Amino acid sequence: MKALDELTFDNRFARLGDAFSTHVLPEPLDAPRLVVASEAAMALLDLDPAVAQTPVFAELFGGHKLWAEAEPRAMVYSGHQFGGYTPQLGDGRGLLLGEVYNEAGEHWDLHLKGAGMTPYSRMGDGRAVLRSSIREFLASEALHALGIPSSRALCVIGSDTPVWREKQERGAMLLRMAHSHIRFGHFEYFYYTKKPEQQALLAEHVLNLHYPECREQPEPYLAMFREIVERNAELIAKWQAYGFCHGVMNTDNMSILGITFDFGPFAFLDDFDAHFICNHSDHEGRYSFSNQVPIGQWNLSALAQALTPFISVDALKEALGLYLPLYQANYLDLMRRRLGLTTAEDDDQHLVERLLKLMQNSGVDYTLFFRRLGDESAALAVTRLRDDFVDLAGFDAWAEQYKARVARDGDYDEEQRRARMHAVNPLYILRNYLAQNAIAAAESGDYSEVRRLHEVLSRPFEEQAGMEQYAQRPPDWGKHLEISCSS
Ligand code: AMP
Ligand code: MG
Repeated sequence: MKALDELTFDNRFARLGDAFSTHVLPEPLDAPRLVVASEAAMALLDLDPAVAQTPVFAELFGGHKLWAEAEPRAMVYSGHQFGGYTPQLGDGRGLLLGEVYNEAGEHWDLHLKGAGMTPYSRMGDGRAVLRSSIREFLASEALHALGIPSSRALCVIGSDTPVWREKQERGAMLLRMAHSHIRFGHFEYFYYTKKPEQQALLAEHVLNLHYPECREQPEPYLAMFREIVERNAELIAKWQAYGFCHGVMNTDNMSILGITFDFGPFAFLDDFDAHFICNHSDHEGRYSFSNQVPIGQWNLSALAQALTPFISVDALKEALGLYLPLYQANYLDLMRRRLGLTTAEDDDQHLVERLLKLMQNSGVDYTLFFRRLGDESAALAVTRLRDDFVDLAGFDAWAEQYKARVARDGDYDEEQRRARMHAVNPLYILRNYLAQNAIAAAESGDYSEVRRLHEVLSRPFEEQAGMEQYAQRPPDWGKHLEISCSS
């Protein structure tokens, strides 16, 4: 276990030089204080959890202090936002403080979000508000606990610093961690600004540090792109299987590592709704829940375009062709498990589609349906769940098909079925209204609800005593919350 001043830095991205990022110091927050910290994330840095309670923790992650070895940098990138190309973006309100490596030899970027203005702030103030920092914190750690690859969150620091959005709010900082903060948009930036030397350096950097096994392949860059395609297909399959809506799948928010990254107005589905749009600025539904699948491919094509200096167009196209079949295979595999099936049959896709259509038409709670389906035998579970559906004849037909399918699947006992299904079907997810309740309390200075919710969501598959209120369907007001982009 380490103290805060014992972290070891190795700032590999900063060493790429000024064409890639700009040195900027964090702008401190007034009266910084700990809102919440993740012990699990602290463990990734070998940090003793007790250090979160020390004043220096809030000073470091509230922008007042800096390690001597840190080299805070704002990265430059660009990207396609809602389908249109924006030539220059970059860290407008976040800084890569440095890269820390832990005792296991892993590197972790420390990125301080909300750290003030940078050369890439455009019209923004460089700040993040408490509400959006809490949302990203909770989601990062909840996604990880669900087994969905994501950037991580070490802590949120609150403050007295006023920040103007639709109304006056308080500034906060989020310490985000990832093995890399390189986005698709980094490659697009150097491609569209016609800087082949820097682009080659970037490609070499990502290959060496993040895809070293691809070096052994005859065409290392192609192998790397293929791996990126595969990771995205797997990631988006998990989002779809667990009802996660990212909200802003612009190419500048897509990680080169294939992890969930830079999500703004994200949401987990309450009622199943394939057309759900969580970002209320997304008027056309470009990033609606079901569109995430084709948008994943669209984004990979944008990256492929930026990689044309290194890989032939034919090879890129072939690699892109892997996306959809891989997505489908991964998705179906996850959904089979969610249904408690251990074998594969050709018609399973159809079984899943029919169920989702029924859920859609009846507004059935996506998370609780699967959890309850595993509570007891298939026959008993469908009898109990039937009440949630409006189209009873439709549900009965599906239930017959499902029971027959379960019978063909194998002769397992009920206890086994429950354990297997509960291990993949969470009881607790980050519902918008739960986040909202925690945020409302935090905005009035009470952080206990954020901490409790974080705690509950860190073990989403395990029933926790006294936490029934986190495993309910949302109240009516909680289903129609509009989450703005102004974070
Ligand atoms: P995001 O929607 O958070 O992915 O941000 C898109 C772009 O806008 C990035 O370049 C951000 O750095 C920048 N940005 C967002 N909010 C702010 C802000 N409050 N101040 C400065 N830049 C911002
Ligand atoms: Mg972004």
